[in-house]
Amino acid sequence: MSRIVSPGQLIVLSAPSGGGKTTIAHALLKQDRNIVRSISCTTRLPRPGEKNQKDYWFLKPNQFLTMQRHGAFLEYAKVHSHWYGTPRPWVHRQIQRGKDVLMVIDVQGGLAIKKIEPQSLLIFLKPPTFSILKQRLIDRCSDSPRAIQQRLHDARKELRQARFYDVVIVNDDLSQAIREVLDTIHQFRNAAAHSKPSLTVGKLNFQ
Ligand code: ADP
Ligand code: 5GP
Repeated sequence: MSRIVSPGQLIVLSAPSGGGKTTIAHALLKQDRNIVRSISCTTRLPRPGEKNQKDYWFLKPNQFLTMQRHGAFLEYAKVHSHWYGTPRPWVHRQIQRGKDVLMVIDVQGGLAIKKIEPQSLLIFLKPPTFSILKQRLIDRCSDSPRAIQQRLHDARKELRQARFYDVVIVNDDLSQAIREVLDTIHQFRNAAAHSKPSLTVGKLNFQ
């Protein structure tokens, strides 16, 4: 027997490195049980404390390439010299279950998702200033000075892409930024519920 559900939404959260994606994503998952986070595949090495299958699927370059060749990624991109990709089947299943899938991905990935699914919601987090961004990266103590330089260099390019996003939120006061992101998602979900037809699970076409 088929079950009628409203399909979930695709939500992209992007920011330059140090912009607060991880911190805010964590708060969203705690505060809204209908949001699930997509765990990406990457060819970069785990940082201290990161766990395989929890933070990322850490893959060897040849494993990543095989998945890419088999069309296993909804989107993929090279970011800061490493490959990252969103696993397609998992996202597909969550959407069918009516879950909103949060993808914490870079701007190339965000724009690719918008092409695949124009009804997706793209949220960009902006740091209050460039020097605050630099200070947050330094204080995080997770990257070498050289990696921080590259991330800051890439940040200038990424910030220019913010204009293509649906919503830009300044991550100055953390609690306020979290509230603004949640409000945006709730408004978007309500609007989608009134405009999208319910789908029969099992028949959702997700290309
Ligand atoms: P990203 O995942 O985008 O690289 P993080 O979530 O790791 O960024 O945030 C970078 C650092 O900045 C972390 O140490 C985090 O605790 C801190 N941070 C994030 N948002 C704020 C904020 N609004 N005010 C102060 N520090 C913040
Ligand atoms: P980090 O190495 O700091 O975890 O992530 C570096 C960048 O890669 C961040 O901007 C992060 O959002 C992005 N990223 C993580 N997973 C994916 C993904 O699956 N696809 C894309 N396009 N970018 C990703």
